[in-house]
Amino acid sequence: MLELKPMIHKFRMKDTYYCLDVNSGIIHVIDELIDRVLDIYDGTNRDAVHAVLDSSEDVVELNEIMDELDELIAAEQLFAPMSQEFKLVVGEKPVVKALCLNIAHDCNLACKYCFASQGDYGGVKRELMSFDVAKRAVDFLIEMSGPRQHCEIDFFGGEPLLNWDVVKQTVEYIESIQTQHNKIFKLTLTTNGMLLTQDKIDYVNEHKMSLVLSLDGREDVHNAMRPVAGSGTESYKFIAKNLINAVKQRHGLEYYVRGTYTHKNLDFTKDVMAMSDLGFEHLSMEPVVGEEGDYVLREEDWPMLEKEYEALADIYLQRQIDGWGEKFNFFHFRMDLYRGPCMAKRLRGCG
Ligand code: SF4
Repeated sequence: MLELKPMIHKFRMKDTYYCLDVNSGIIHVIDELIDRVLDIYDGTNRDAVHAVLDSSEDVVELNEIMDELDELIAAEQLFAPMSQEFKLVVGEKPVVKALCLNIAHDCNLACKYCFASQGDYGGVKRELMSFDVAKRAVDFLIEMSGPRQHCEIDFFGGEPLLNWDVVKQTVEYIESIQTQHNKIFKLTLTTNGMLLTQDKIDYVNEHKMSLVLSLDGREDVHNAMRPVAGSGTESYKFIAKNLINAVKQRHGLEYYVRGTYTHKNLDFTKDVMAMSDLGFEHLSMEPVVGEEGDYVLREEDWPMLEKEYEALADIYLQRQIDGWGEKFNFFHFRMDLYRGPCMAKRLRGCG
């Protein structure tokens, strides 16, 4: 059984220090000295704190800080134990609630940073999932989700629209059996937009599927990283046109436009704004994953990235004050400030 130890995440926004207690979800506003004490202190090791900090800090103040931390620990507001809610999720019998189906092991773009080696995941063969495999995946999810009613499937790739017939067959299979199994499926399609034609837009809207649409913000940033497979030509104009067409027909159905930032666009707030300027309201920009190449993020990028998130947070807050509301919605800044990050995010140490 997965054991969730008491855990904290500390971070700084401008001049304010914060400490998130993972299991309770409580966010503490702390100061710089408490931040340093919490680098060491776990509620049991005062001597270790004194050994490191006595030479530079006031000993009485250190003891007062640790007294206050002990009070929070006793009240289960710091280093809180795993809650009953968490135990249900990570209990003895694992419950699978979501599957990401690699429905197309192939892609029509050749993004330089591709996590999937341009769609084939580094394998020898580019393939499309058969309906039989997709059907068995759905049956597996129904079985493994146990009593949980809400299940999720993300049609993913590579590029899932390369296997559109199987996507449709699978959607229709799910719709035909979910009621008899007392399940409610949330279906998501993650696409690069190259094949997002009107018939597909009509279908995903009719079947109330969520959409995750990939675009990297500014035209030059996108084109530098996301060329068309084979020809190597620029893809931005074609994709942006398709995404704008799809999004204007969503009428409240869930979507977000997701970009990737790299070492080459550490000023990614400009990319978020470029996507907002195109009329996209639900946005996300994620850090690139990778270890090689001139685009990978480096240790020395951290200070600039911290500043960039602060700048984006300022814009986000100002837009909320100015009444933009849901019209400017950055995925990672969606959080319930009274209850903290959702359980799934706390479990994964994310958000
Ligand atoms: S669209 Fe996605 S799967 Fe295709 S090459 Fe780009 S990152 Fe890889």
